[in-house]
Amino acid sequence: MYLVGAGPGDPRLITVRGVECLRLADVVVYDRLASPELLGYVPAAAERIFVGKGPRQHTMSQDEIDELLVERGLAGQIVVRLKGGDPFVFGRGGEEALALDAAGVPFEVVPGITSAIAGPSFAGIPVTHRQVAASFAVVTGHEDPTRDASGVRWAGLANGPETLIFLMGVENLEPIVANLLANGRPASQPAAAIRWATTPDQEVVAGTLGSIVERVRGADLRPPAVLVVGDVVGLRDGLDWRSRLPLAGLRVLVTRARQQASALSARLVELGAAPLEYPTIEIRPVDDPAPFDSALADVGQFGWIVFTSTNGVDAFWERLLRSGQDSRALAGVQICAIGPSTAGALATHGITADWIPPEFVTDSILDGFRKRDLGGVGILLARADIAPPVLADGLREQGALVSEVTAYQTTPSPESRDRLLAALELRTIHVVTLTSSS
Ligand code: SAH
Repeated sequence: MYLVGAGPGDPRLITVRGVECLRLADVVVYDRLASPELLGYVPAAAERIFVGKGPRQHTMSQDEIDELLVERGLAGQIVVRLKGGDPFVFGRGGEEALALDAAGVPFEVVPGITSAIAGPSFAGIPVTHRQVAASFAVVTGHEDPTRDASGVRWAGLANGPETLIFLMGVENLEPIVANLLANGRPASQPAAAIRWATTPDQEVVAGTLGSIVERVRGADLRPPAVLVVGDVVGLRDGLDWRSRLPLAGLRVLVTRARQQASALSARLVELGAAPLEYPTIEIRPVDDPAPFDSALADVGQFGWIVFTSTNGVDAFWERLLRSGQDSRALAGVQICAIGPSTAGALATHGITADWIPPEFVTDSILDGFRKRDLGGVGILLARADIAPPVLADGLREQGALVSEVTAYQTTPSPESRDRLLAALELRTIHVVTLTSSS
């Protein structure tokens, strides 16, 4: 059993160990604040159990969750209990661990980045700062603060740590602020509330202890949010790095095939966007490789081979190696790559492209070959099943003997279809990217 902290919201903020555990899981038991995208790390056959928990909406009681974990643990399943933030920061992870211990189920705790610290960070607020705040406290805002039995000692809090961080505090904002003011915290002290921190929905409402209630209510800020009170909030102007990212707050749909999606996603992340990968097409080996194999049997006879995609390069080498040959079979053949990525894929096989056209399109290839004499020259094109005939036709017009073989197939991806429809129905996607006609 692994009690894993999912991090504050952005699925990239889970730990390496957390991902390792997800990859091992037979069962994942997750709640509302753990990013659903993390389920992408879980083996397809694993069971996914949502146990909910929002304010006033409990899908399963804590006892039922404890029971579920114990039952699965005793059955010998590899269970990941995935919890938002850190499992031991107001996550009832301690209770779950005690239940496991009582039942004799061994467990490991994988800490997570808590929203208590990451939430302020993503709003440009350091929870400590030299000469401003030497301590911080993380406090539950959930206890009814008007009750005598409240576990929160207001006088000590108001006059203790320079930075106060409240989780689960939106609904009780009024009494929290009133208690702090009544115990001597100045009304002029800066305060901020950060909702859905680290996600594209992040919203920040800032003010002072005197104005924060009105501002939060005015902005209709709902849970989940982190409330920060302290002079560190005043450092935001210089430190609000996130809102400076050009694509901050945008959810961008990446429809490329899985093989290439991650490269696009990585660059989107650099610009601050949240990429959502739903590959609409799949790149697959051809059903009938015989024509490809017969072209490869005599591959050294071609004058040129033209590669128009990294997929073509990968498929080519896959079949070449299977045929018992390797890159040396291309010793006397000239190689054209349509662009730098395709050339990069060739380089991984020890091949430096002889020629890359100045523009990475078919016309540019045809223009370039016009300067060479293609009369009677054999050219091999290893392409997708759906590749348009323009390139082969154009080369033939120039007198080349063109062999066009299907190196890979492009098919619709059934696996992501339903997930994609569900994502679109949520209407939270801002940008859709399409990088090929297919
Ligand atoms: N274990 C979690 C906290 C669970 S309590 C952690 O370490 O982060 C739930 C509260 O956490 C919410 O009411 C809210 O105050 C806070 N919270 C969790 N994720 C948040 C997020 N992405 N943005 C703002 N607040 C969040």
